[in-house]
Amino acid sequence: MKKIEKLSFFRFLIVYLFFHFFISISLSAQEIIIFPQPRKMEIYGGKQFKIRPDTKIIISPAPTESDRLSASELNDNIYNLAGFQLPVVEPPVQGPLKNIIVIGEYAKSKILKNLMDKNNIDFNQDELGEQGYLIFSNSDIVLLSGSKPAGTFYGVQSLIDIINSGKGKGINIPNLLIRDFPALKYRELFNEDKWGPDWMSLEDYKDMVDYMARIKMNSLSIGIYGCWGVQYRNEILEFFLLPVDKYPQIKTPKLIEYYSPEKAEWTKLDYLPKIFEDDFFGEIIKYGKKKYVTVYPKFNSLGHNTLLPRIFPGISAKDEQGNPTGYGFCTSNNETYKILFNIFDNIIDKYLKPNGVDWFDIELDEVRQWCKCEKCKNLSEEEIYLDHIIKLAKHLKSKGINHIGVWADMLNKKKMVNSHLVGKLEKEELKGNMILHWWRYTEPIYETIFPEFSLRNWVVPMTGYTYPYQFYYNCSRLNNVFDMLVLGHKSNAEGASSYSIYDPAYNLDITALSNFAWNPPASNQEKALDDYIKSYTKKIFGSQWKEAKLILENLDKFYPGNANIMRTILYYRHSYVNTKPYKKHPYPEEAFEALKKNSNSKDQLEKMAGITNNAARFFKSALNSKDTDRKIVIQFYANIFRASNLIEEFLLLYDIEEDYQKFKILSGKAGRLQLLKNIKNTTNKIFSLQMESIRTWEDVKPQFLHPHCMRNMSFMLKFCEENIKRIYELEEKVKNNSLKEIPESLITGTNKEL
Ligand SMILES: [Zn+2]
Repeated sequence: MKKIEKLSFFRFLIVYLFFHFFISISLSAQEIIIFPQPRKMEIYGGKQFKIRPDTKIIISPAPTESDRLSASELNDNIYNLAGFQLPVVEPPVQGPLKNIIVIGEYAKSKILKNLMDKNNIDFNQDELGEQGYLIFSNSDIVLLSGSKPAGTFYGVQSLIDIINSGKGKGINIPNLLIRDFPALKYRELFNEDKWGPDWMSLEDYKDMVDYMARIKMNSLSIGIYGCWGVQYRNEILEFFLLPVDKYPQIKTPKLIEYYSPEKAEWTKLDYLPKIFEDDFFGEIIKYGKKKYVTVYPKFNSLGHNTLLPRIFPGISAKDEQGNPTGYGFCTSNNETYKILFNIFDNIIDKYLKPNGVDWFDIELDEVRQWCKCEKCKNLSEEEIYLDHIIKLAKHLKSKGINHIGVWADMLNKKKMVNSHLVGKLEKEELKGNMILHWWRYTEPIYETIFPEFSLRNWVVPMTGYTYPYQFYYNCSRLNNVFDMLVLGHKSNAEGASSYSIYDPAYNLDITALSNFAWNPPASNQEKALDDYIKSYTKKIFGSQWKEAKLILENLDKFYPGNANIMRTILYYRHSYVNTKPYKKHPYPEEAFEALKKNSNSKDQLEKMAGITNNAARFFKSALNSKDTDRKIVIQFYANIFRASNLIEEFLLLYDIEEDYQKFKILSGKAGRLQLLKNIKNTTNKIFSLQMESIRTWEDVKPQFLHPHCMRNMSFMLKFCEENIKRIYELEEKVKNNSLKEIPESLITGTNKEL
């Protein structure tokens, strides 16, 4: 008896362990990670749905282009994972309703409706809304339904995430039920008119739209016009990205020189923005529509404004003597509106209206110079500003534009978000059309965005701004994204956008924006971000997620306090110049001088070197791991590798400085020549490190991020070349005993224009 009991206990234990083991394996092998994270998701045990070559995708009867697109996106993904595609079938369906994935809108598809009824699934159209969807699966069927086509499309994006969660261990779908819908109606990326976007081709823009659609972002605004002061070649940096038929003189050609390791030569580009030259803005809009991404222009219509007032001096803001300042507009001059409206109308009639887009953004941020003409000088800045908004908005509305964006910084700074503004907008019947975009890139963010006035508000954190981040580099902007989104949800904002220049390396931040806009984060920041980074690293870094999480968190802890040093050593800050008189900032001299002012700089750089090197090493090794998302990880790698090398290079500049100080006081010939040799070697080391960064950048980054970033990186190469030449000259003089005047420092900087 006892024996039998014992046996059965062991049998029980074995069976128990077997099941326990089996269940935990199948769960851990397939942790479902979907971004943005669904609002409601339940996963059950039991036999999973297995995708096989004979599994059918059933789409709606009389399928639309959208139905076919959804099926083909799913199929493409299955093909990438498993090497086969599924047959796509229209109802009626022959044979048993098993081994099928049914996709479509609930109201349009009888088969979906019947199968949901049969499985007691309540498809709650009101809950899901325009963009929501439901996914149900058991071992026989997968049902995926939106209430509208956008919802179905988003359901497919989630199903792709579910399938990809298996990471190649067979394509199984666990039993689950997802009901998902966005908290914020609009989730946007803003691509600023700057270096980078100006070199994007139509294909690059399509990639960007695809990227956004995969994480359920549905709005892309493109900066069309903006002006930014003087940065290179004593030219005002201005971008105008669309050709205006009436004013062919409006164009912004650019000249860039940089070293290309791939071509092994210095490369010169003399170009117009690609979107201007090939005139494909309409094509981006069309492509966006297919993927439920509304594409529309942002046009800076008062601040950041030098090109139009220079081309049309009559409309420029005036100084006290009535002379055009070449900056901003005189808003008392009717001609200003004639020209602006001609341009707006050209954009609307040529690109927006034919594609059914009724969005336009007039920006109006950072207005710093105001017209002082006879008429304007008697008006307050607030009056000028509000009157200008109303004039522009009324015109746009008369042209059929129903969504009119404006940055909120000026309105907020001038305390104009008040009942007077609301009254004025109501009177002009614009309240439902105006959208205030609240941008803030640094903490603390706004205390309020004034929800009590029920204006249309969007929050706009920063998710990345070309290389380097304008404010931080080597760390994320997750705090900023989190804070702004919490504020947005609390204040009934209708959308979230981001200040950015598209670079896939900002994936961590962009995904966070989409995630927190769709699914409001828990109010505990530490926990919300911890959960997010955990899921994110699991999805991107697979089995190496723990290390990746630690690396990303360490960078985030370390870098905000060291941001200033990073900004100092990067070329970006030194590229902006004063024009009167025009003088370039010599680089790396100016950066090195700034470091020397603080005795801690070198220690700090050494700490930076440790943590940054470590991160670069990790990202590189993660590339070899089978279950990492290589496409994203390699972008992380190129950025951090560039930073890591630059830090090394500045530490080597300290070595040069030390050797050169010794050189200056030494009198023996042999000793001096040895020191010069050391300096030459160190300079060559700097050159090689920088060359490797540029080579990696050119290999890895999308082509539109090459010219400008590689130009900035090339300044260090120029310095090294010039320094080597100087050292040779010194050597000659030491050898000939003709050294009379010893230069103050060898760490000068190149003044070369690139
Ligand atoms: Zn004026």
